[in-house]
Amino acid sequence: MSPFPRPDYATLTTYDPGRRPVPVDLSDNTNLWGPHPDALTRLRAASAGDTRCYPEVYADTLKRAVAERFGPAFGVTDANVTTGAGSDDVLDSAFRAAGGPGERVAFPAPTFGMADEFARMNGMVSAPVPWREALADPEALLASAPSVVYVCRPNNPTGALAPRVWVERLLDLAGAGGPLVVLDEAYADFAGESLIGLAVEHPRLLVARTCSKAYGLAGLRCGFGIARADVALEVEKSRGPFKVSRLTAEAAAAALRDPSGWVKTTVAECLANRESLRRELERRGLRQLESSANFILVAAPTGAAKQDAITLREQGVQVRPFVDIPDLGDALRVTVGPWPLMQRFLEALDALIASPRRSAP
Ligand code: PMP
Repeated sequence: MSPFPRPDYATLTTYDPGRRPVPVDLSDNTNLWGPHPDALTRLRAASAGDTRCYPEVYADTLKRAVAERFGPAFGVTDANVTTGAGSDDVLDSAFRAAGGPGERVAFPAPTFGMADEFARMNGMVSAPVPWREALADPEALLASAPSVVYVCRPNNPTGALAPRVWVERLLDLAGAGGPLVVLDEAYADFAGESLIGLAVEHPRLLVARTCSKAYGLAGLRCGFGIARADVALEVEKSRGPFKVSRLTAEAAAAALRDPSGWVKTTVAECLANRESLRRELERRGLRQLESSANFILVAAPTGAAKQDAITLREQGVQVRPFVDIPDLGDALRVTVGPWPLMQRFLEALDALIASPRRSAP
């Protein structure tokens, strides 16, 4: 008999985003302007103690930096913060803190694939609700009596931003005995709005953020959650000690303080390029979804997305294929970066569109 008897566990696989090393990688929505320079400076100044010694048990230095970054606008204090090895870790810990085996995690679909994975890793059951149905009435997300409702805002892979009033209504409907609402704001820097202010006050809301996207630090694995102090503490318990390495915490703290305004500058350039890319795709007659994130989802001909991604990769440009996207069907998700990279993508796309094997979407 297997030492891993859980039948739900048997259906899990290891994660394969289908990524290969390529000259122009537009597949993972990281900051293509590079890593935050102040984080890099801190890493270069690493000392023996940074490596030999354990980090702070619950990353207090990082919490301080988060509170300084978001305190003035949203009233965040250190006690409102929990941290993790990437926001993946925060999501995983939050799900486990709020729900036990057999309980449900509801989410509007399609969304970030790891929501389903983390539900299943924790022995929970995913309860996806079609995006349009969930957005028409958030009550649809509560029909399965979930312990957790996950909402990605802006949503990966579509880029849609669920309205703030919709989230408020979801919280109202969930009421005093309802689920924990986990709001994934991995791409909020590009949307220019956040519900962190709501999270520090509400008893059932956690906002998850990452240093992997706008801050350009995906390789360091740093994320954090912001919630009322009692909620943050419960997630911290489920996360466990020593999860954020000493160097990661220090480097991420330097990036969050952002003394040079590097994040603001690269985000502004990204948004300008997103608009230019949107126009270029429109000029080619390609259907696309309006995006509040640092990527655009563009239609591919029915059944063609996976092969299109392979063809583009052969030309040195990697994007992420999707199928069954509402209003698009097959689609390619393209990370927005510096314009020379967008030009490389557009050239490869034009070659793809012109190829005799492919029909127009
Ligand atoms: N949430 C969303 C919506 C994402 O797209 C990602 C990364 N792809 C994450 C969370 C996880 O980010 P990380 O673990 O690198 O912080």
